[in-house]
Amino acid sequence: MKVSELFTRTSKTAPADEVAKNAQLLIRAGFVYKVMAGVYAYTPLGLKVLENIKQIVREEMNAVHGQEIIMSSLQRKETWEGTGRWDDEVVDVWFKSKLKDDTEVGFGWSHEEAIMEMMQQFVKSYKDLPTSVYQFQTKLRNELRAKSGIMRGREFVMKDMYSLHATEEDMDAYYEGVIKAYKRCYERFGIGASTFVTFASGGAFTKFSHEFQTICDAGEDILYVNDEQTVAVNEEVLDDAAAELGIDKASLQPVKSAEVGNIFKFGTSKSEQMGITYMDKDGVQKPIYLASYGIGITRVMGVIVEKFADERGIVWPESIAPAKVYLVSIGAQGSEVADALYDELTSRGVEVLYDDRDARPGEKFADGELMGIPYTLTVSDRLVEAGKYELKARATGEVNLLTRDELFASISTS
Ligand code: ATP
Ligand code: MG
Repeated sequence: MKVSELFTRTSKTAPADEVAKNAQLLIRAGFVYKVMAGVYAYTPLGLKVLENIKQIVREEMNAVHGQEIIMSSLQRKETWEGTGRWDDEVVDVWFKSKLKDDTEVGFGWSHEEAIMEMMQQFVKSYKDLPTSVYQFQTKLRNELRAKSGIMRGREFVMKDMYSLHATEEDMDAYYEGVIKAYKRCYERFGIGASTFVTFASGGAFTKFSHEFQTICDAGEDILYVNDEQTVAVNEEVLDDAAAELGIDKASLQPVKSAEVGNIFKFGTSKSEQMGITYMDKDGVQKPIYLASYGIGITRVMGVIVEKFADERGIVWPESIAPAKVYLVSIGAQGSEVADALYDELTSRGVEVLYDDRDARPGEKFADGELMGIPYTLTVSDRLVEAGKYELKARATGEVNLLTRDELFASISTS
């Protein structure tokens, strides 16, 4: 990608009505465009980050044999009536509308019922189980407050996976496997050390649901952690969890956190409410066990911005950055060498954002830092004469003057 070809521009200020740091920085750096409160569009750089996050999740969900699908946003009222979740008192985030003939429809805020309805056509016998499907979908939720930037959208991207099983044991074993897959995801996003699996409250499902909470000042939840940050407990279940774990509540300190994932065991409840069954080995119709697993893709992106940003801008972990290298050319000779270097790095598979604009060096450096690209690589007339390349790490500020060989060795391994 060449900066001169991007339609987006960086800006020194964020919209006055934007209070969240993540959205302020993402807008200033040209990653998102604010449509209205809680609704954001993703520009090429922002989309690249989203796709990188999705790809990590996709690989981990495929590894637990999830099959990727995309369900519809428009939902039938009847799909949700059987479980009572069409009711606005039960689900307070529905966006609903009507077809021309007055048929009521809703916009998907989650998809358990829709998945069960679809799977009913395919899961007939024990031989069809277990099965697991997932999607990356834009969920629509009429959230009361949307002041956390992309961390709480009225329209946001979620990965939701649903697994169907013949027995509770099979569901339990799969669920444990997904917890491991989730841990790998957060690890790969670069937030593994500050993300905890916690028991979640959730009415009757307390024992059967877990949240993945990332310590983050901009989060809306509270986590109680010990000094070593090896134990983390959700505020809502503090008393029960402390008793269960045999720890003194007073040894835990409250910290702010963001829920980056949520997993549930519905057991046979959906199946029973919806009248969906499979035929067992002995010919008997039995209810299907269901578990569901969500990751807030856009929320993860916001959390990462919040956690790692500094006074100069965003700092992306390499695994999800829109490019690995921000190439800055300075001077006529520098530009000539940078042009060739861009082609060469790109052909070797290194993702480069090349600031080829006719702009002041200071402006280029500042933009590369605002955009959070892991390495800034400078090629100037002076450096060309010295036969060196300057490589600066965004996260640490460490600067190295490298020969060409050293540069290639360093970029392809780091
Ligand atoms: P919250 O308590 O934050 O409202 P939730 O319990 O409603 O979350 P789920 O329905 O379990 O969330 O959704 C799965 C995941 O999707 C959440 O763990 C979170 O990461 C993400 N998520 C939920 N609501 C939003 C939102 N409005 N904007 C962005 N991400 C969201
Ligand atoms: Mg919610």
